[in-house]
Amino acid sequence: MSRKKRVIIPNSATIKCPHCSKNTRVSLFNDTYIGNLTCKKCKQKIETPPAHCCVVCAFSKKKCPQSLILEAKIKNLEIKYQSEISKTNSVKPETTPAGATQVKNISLIES
Ligand SMILES: [Zn+2]
Ligand SMILES: [Zn+2]
Repeated sequence: MSRKKRVIIPNSATIKCPHCSKNTRVSLFNDTYIGNLTCKKCKQKIETPPAHCCVVCAFSKKKCPQSLILEAKIKNLEIKYQSEISKTNSVKPETTPAGATQVKNISLIES
């Protein structure tokens, strides 16, 4: 009954370019927020559509860590990080796509 549901925070996401459909893999950290990035193939800017949270939420199949953490807090769910689960298969920091900007840097984790 009191078993908490958990939310897995992904450590990467694949963003599909809305202009040319090229997939770009981005690394996600606990507080990653990607407001826009430039597609490596077509060089066009991928921007967050008005009704969306960020490009990860809008153009990948995943939700960004920030919105997942927020959702977990609202629903009182347990937060698990994929990077902690799969420590053995250590994640190499991938190259940040040119033009990726960290617009927000809010820490939602309470000590
Ligand atoms: Zn593109
Ligand atoms: Zn988002």
